[in-house]
Amino acid sequence: MRREAEACGAVMSGNCQDKNTMQMCKTQKPLKLPRKSSKSCHLHHEQSPLKIVRASYQYMYDDTNSEYLDCVNSVSHIGHCHPAVVEAVSVTMDSVINTCGWEIDYGDLRYPKELHQILPDHLDTFLFCNSGSEAVDLALQLARLYTNGTDAVVIDNAFHGSIGSIHHLSPKVAKSNNITKADWVHIVTMPDLYRGPYQEDDPLAVDRYVADAQDLIDKAQLTGRKIACFIAEPMLTVPGCIIPPSTWLQEMYRMVRETGGLCIADEVQTGLGRVGSHFWSFQAQDVTPDILIMGKPVGNGYPMASVATSRDIAAVLGERIKEYKCTRVMDAVGCAVLEVLQQDQLMDSAAEVGAFLKKELVRLQKKHEYIGDVRGRGLMFGIEIVWSKQSKKPAREIADHIVNRMKEEYVIMANEGNSRNILMLLPPMCFTQENALLLIQRLDKVFTELPSHRFSRDHATGLPTDNVNTQPAIGVCEGRLGIMQPQLDDDDDSIVSSRDKVELEHAQQSYEDLD
Ligand code: PMP
Repeated sequence: MRREAEACGAVMSGNCQDKNTMQMCKTQKPLKLPRKSSKSCHLHHEQSPLKIVRASYQYMYDDTNSEYLDCVNSVSHIGHCHPAVVEAVSVTMDSVINTCGWEIDYGDLRYPKELHQILPDHLDTFLFCNSGSEAVDLALQLARLYTNGTDAVVIDNAFHGSIGSIHHLSPKVAKSNNITKADWVHIVTMPDLYRGPYQEDDPLAVDRYVADAQDLIDKAQLTGRKIACFIAEPMLTVPGCIIPPSTWLQEMYRMVRETGGLCIADEVQTGLGRVGSHFWSFQAQDVTPDILIMGKPVGNGYPMASVATSRDIAAVLGERIKEYKCTRVMDAVGCAVLEVLQQDQLMDSAAEVGAFLKKELVRLQKKHEYIGDVRGRGLMFGIEIVWSKQSKKPAREIADHIVNRMKEEYVIMANEGNSRNILMLLPPMCFTQENALLLIQRLDKVFTELPSHRFSRDHATGLPTDNVNTQPAIGVCEGRLGIMQPQLDDDDDSIVSSRDKVELEHAQQSYEDLD
C-alpha cells in the first residue's frame, strides 16, 4: 500500500484527484528534501514517529516523500501552504515597517470590516495578537476591567491555550500538570451526555447539568466572589468533540449574565465554517457572546489571532488598545483566508462531506463493538473507542493502536480526551468526499483486523482480560490538537522525558507566579 509520491507528489499519487491539489501542483516547485530532515514527531505516533517535511492542502509528506491524508490539522484551515496565503504573506512582508512608538499609516485595512460583516452587529471592534492563547488572555483582561470582577467560570476538561497567565482557565492543562485550582476559577461539569454524570438515557440530564452549574455560581456569589466571565468553546473540541445541548449553553449564558459577568466564545477551532451549518459555532448553539476569540486558523497557521467585542467593552483598554492593531500582513492573510472560504464554498463543503462522514461513521459504529459513540458535525468529529458498547470503558490502547495502524495506511489521526481514547477528526476544510471515503474504508479495515488476541476482553464486564497498559507512556508528549511538538532526539526517550520535566517545572513556575 505504500505509495511513493514523485517530484510533485500530490499529482502523481492516485489519491489526489481533487481540483485543489491539482491546482497547487501546477505552481509547486520540485521537492527539495532538507539535507538532514528535522526530528520526528512523537505527538501523534509514539511508535516510529513520522518525519513530516512538507504539506499541501489536506496532504502531508514525510522524508521518504510518502503522502498522508491529514485528518487533524485544523490550524491549516483552508489547506496546508495554501498559495493564496503564501502570496499574501510574501507580498505584504515586503513592505513591513517596524517602528517604536510612531503611528504607522496602514492605509485602509479591509480585514476588520470583512470580519464585522460576518458577525453580529455589536461585535464591531477587533483587537489583534499572535496566538489564540494571547487572545484568551486579552479576553480575560477585558472582562475583568469591564465588570470589575475577578472570577471566571470554565467547563471541566476545557482547553483554552498554553500560556502561564491562562493555565487556570484550562482544567485540562491544570490537571495534567497537577496544578491546584485557583480560587478565582469555578469549574462546571462538562455536559457530556455519553460519559458524564447525567447521560442521554436520563430525560432530565440537561436540567441536572444546569442545576449543578447554578449551584456552583450561587455558591461563588455567596462567598463574595464577583464573576467577570464565562469562557467556553460553544462546541468543545479538545475534550473530545463534546457538543453541549444548546439549551444548556443558553442557560449558562443566562446565569452568568445575571451575575453581571460577560460571555466569551472561544472559536479558535470551531469558527470559520467548520461546523458546516453556520460560520461560527455560537450561531449553531443559538447564543450571542460578548467577546469572541479567533485563533491561528484565521491566518491558516500564520501567527495571528483576534478578539472581537463591542466598542464599549474594548474602550476599557484605553490607550493600550493601540497594542492590538491589525498589521498589514494580518490584514492580507485574514482576507485571503476569508476569500478562499467563500470562493471554494468550504463551509457548504464541510456540511456535505461532514454529513457523509457522519453517516459512514455511524455505520462503522454499528459494525464494530469498539466504537462506543460518534459525535460531531461539519468537519469536526469525535469517535469514542471503548472496550465494549455496554461498559463504555475507555480503551486507550485500542485508540493508540488505531492511530498507529492508520498511519501505516497513510492517514494521520489523533487520540484525545481525558483517557486519550477519543479519535479526533478536524481536517483542513478542503477535505473532500473522496478523502472521507478513503478514511472510512481504511478505518473499517483497521477495525476489522484488530488483533483479537491482543485486545481480548471479558464480555460481561467489557474490561480487557490481558495486562494492557492504559497509562500514557513515560516521556510522551501530551497531545494537544494543532500543536506539533518535535521530538528532541530520534531514539533517546530519556531526552524527551527530561524535556517534559523542564516544561512541567516551567509550567508550575509560571502558574505560581500568577497566584
Ligand atoms: N483555544 C482553543 C480551543 C484551542 O484549541 C487552542 C489551541 N489550538 C487555543 C485556544 C490556543 O491557541 P494557540 O495555540 O494559538 O495559542
